[in-house]
Amino acid sequence: MPGEKRIVVIGGSAAGPKAAARARRMDEMAEITIIQKDPDLSMASCGYPYYVGGFFDDRNMLLSTPTGVTRDPKFYINAKGIVAKTETEAISIDRQNKTVTCRTRATDEMEVIGYDKLILATGSIPRIPPVPGTDLSGITTLQSMKDADYLRRIRDEQKIKKAVIIGGGLIGIETSEALELAGMEITIVELLPQLLTFLDWEMAKLVENHVKGKNANIITQNGLAAFIGENGKLTAVKLNNGTELPCELAVIAIGVRPNTRLARDAGLEIGQTGGITVNGYMQTSDPDIYAVGDCIEIDNLITGKKVHAPYGDLANLQGRVAGENAAAGNHATFPGTIQTGICKVFEYAAGSTGLSEKAAIESGYTAIETTINSSPDKPGFMEGKILVTKLVVERPSGRILGAQCVGPGDVSKQIAQWAMAIKGGLTVEHIVNADLPYAPPFSLAIDHGIATAHIIQNKLRGFMKGISCTDVKKKIDNNEKVFFLDTRGPDEYEQMRLGIGETLIPIGILRKRLQDIPQDRDTEIICYCKISLRGYEAARLLEGYGWKNVKVMEGGIMAWPFPREK
Ligand SMILES: Cc1cc2nc3c(=O)[nH]c(=O)nc-3n(C[C@H](O)[C@H](O)[C@H](O)COP(=O)(O)OP(=O)(O)OC[C@H]3O[C@@H](n4cnc5c(N)ncnc54)[C@H](O)[C@@H]3O)c2cc1C
Repeated sequence: MPGEKRIVVIGGSAAGPKAAARARRMDEMAEITIIQKDPDLSMASCGYPYYVGGFFDDRNMLLSTPTGVTRDPKFYINAKGIVAKTETEAISIDRQNKTVTCRTRATDEMEVIGYDKLILATGSIPRIPPVPGTDLSGITTLQSMKDADYLRRIRDEQKIKKAVIIGGGLIGIETSEALELAGMEITIVELLPQLLTFLDWEMAKLVENHVKGKNANIITQNGLAAFIGENGKLTAVKLNNGTELPCELAVIAIGVRPNTRLARDAGLEIGQTGGITVNGYMQTSDPDIYAVGDCIEIDNLITGKKVHAPYGDLANLQGRVAGENAAAGNHATFPGTIQTGICKVFEYAAGSTGLSEKAAIESGYTAIETTINSSPDKPGFMEGKILVTKLVVERPSGRILGAQCVGPGDVSKQIAQWAMAIKGGLTVEHIVNADLPYAPPFSLAIDHGIATAHIIQNKLRGFMKGISCTDVKKKIDNNEKVFFLDTRGPDEYEQMRLGIGETLIPIGILRKRLQDIPQDRDTEIICYCKISLRGYEAARLLEGYGWKNVKVMEGGIMAWPFPREK
């Protein structure tokens, strides 16, 4: 019908279809078109590693609605009245005449489509290292459905024995698990000193130890120098230190950059991180063009700095805002991100929200307090699984700046709680008496997150002097004179121990064995147990008897990232 608003969306995976669907709900009469380069629509890219890893077999499940209907052009026209043109690439935007020129891939035919409002959702492009040999066969990324199909085929054929993953970030780690499940011997190569850089080093090390326990090799602080091949096929990966790792498959996962070519060519403003600049309405520097998802940059709500945050949840939220505004005028807003993320790492999960300690320091925070807490997510009689959380707060206000959590327990719940606390500007005092749901199948009476807040409250009030495992290790390496007190029972000690010259005195008999503690009340004493709850009790007890320099090793043995004697 003439006079209808024409909304054109470029990009048909996460943010684009969400924007189109929201626009339709706002305006039944609008003419809505999605232009999508790929053959598929609405791909659940976050599910690719699980398809490759064999968690499910039907690729269409990645493209389906919750009721099992494949989101193809027929679905979009029938269910939503949206025209979805697949295998059609937007080539250029004419902002003067408000048109998009597209090429249909199969026929090479060009088409010019007019718009009143345009939404860019062109996603991101994987970074490829500038090294020789990237054109060999056997080298891939895991960014598109085509990549997922390729890796799944390799999995099903079961011919490849050795794979190298370049990059120890979220996608690299998830891909490693998928390929390990496919029966391959895996090596992860990471340029930096740790995997998963959204975590602080000692937290990432716990994840690394878990991955190594799954027979994956991890090489850190070593970059890729070249891909080596024979007859056009990959045979090895060469590292900066000269090491050659024989392999038949390499997956490059060193991050993504915003796909902004169309926007740049159209003269739209590009920000300092390389993403398209948008305001809170998701409008670009041209008020008739919105942009959403991995192709934009947004505000970090804690630091106020611009960031490129390529997360699937944010892409959908932003798409919803842009779709509404494009259809019904600017009402909805997207304020920014606190960079919350999570990934599965074999039997562990690793999640983070807000700032790590490292990020807080880099952002200029000088007065911060941190703590590490280990405890189960549920009671032992309900098969509780361990969680290790590191909390970062501002001093003296106690405002929550960030939380990281790793372990086999329910990491997702912990990170979700902290994310809401950060978004709400909450402090430690708000969390210490939080009213969370409790029953044994779900949590402890004092939830792990609340217990973490109790520990940091104790530190802020001076009831507990904590020391991180990393700082304890430094003291050992510097041969400092410290009395290490392990407060567990002899059986536990036999099963697992640090072997750092510790003295074992179980908490239950500590009052009767005070003569075994160095009698100089100024001696530095570091107490711990498996999770350092008994360690904390021992520290309070010793302080009660006059020892003045008693510390608790935070998180206990469960948070110890270094090799143990046993
Ligand atoms: C393996 C993997 C695992 C992930 N796991 C998670 C996770 O667990 N949690 C999380 O939050 N995020 C995860 N992500 C990130 C998440 O998938 C992205 O943030 C999200 O898909 C971004 O959505 P988007 O719509 O902006 O971009 P995309 O999903 O990349 O879609 C962009 C689409 O635009 C199309 N396009 C580009 N240019 C044009 C053009 N000129 N014309 C027409 N079409 C064009 C592309 O072909 C593409 O289909 C993962 C990503 C990958 C690859």
